Amino acid sequence: MTYSACPQCQSDFTYHDGSQLVCPECAHEWQEHESANQEENPIVKDANGTPLADGDTVVLIKDLKVKGSSMVIKQGTKVKGIRLQDGDHDIGCKIDGTPMNLKSEFVKKA
Ligand SMILES: [Zn+2]
Repeated sequence: MTYSACPQCQSDFTYHDGSQLVCPECAHEWQEHESANQEENPIVKDANGTPLADGDTVVLIKDLKVKGSSMVIKQGTKVKGIRLQDGDHDIGCKIDGTPMNLKSEFVKKA
């Protein structure tokens, strides 16, 4: 995680000391909420542009090969209780008890 640049000298080497942000360059200290917070979770959208949330049920819109196995998850498979996450595959879920990572562009909200 990276913190906001120092509002005083724009240094990027800021760190969090537990209660506030500290700039090692100019020794400025400030509260996190005073700086523009750009750490909002990115909105994950399905193939139709519908925003997804943790716990949603989605349906696959195409057959997906599972990396590292011969398994294919069929188009139309319902996936319950998704979990949004960072990364290329922005949906975490379990299919038949097996943890999987999916790309939101290949699902739509059920
Ligand atoms: Zn500074």
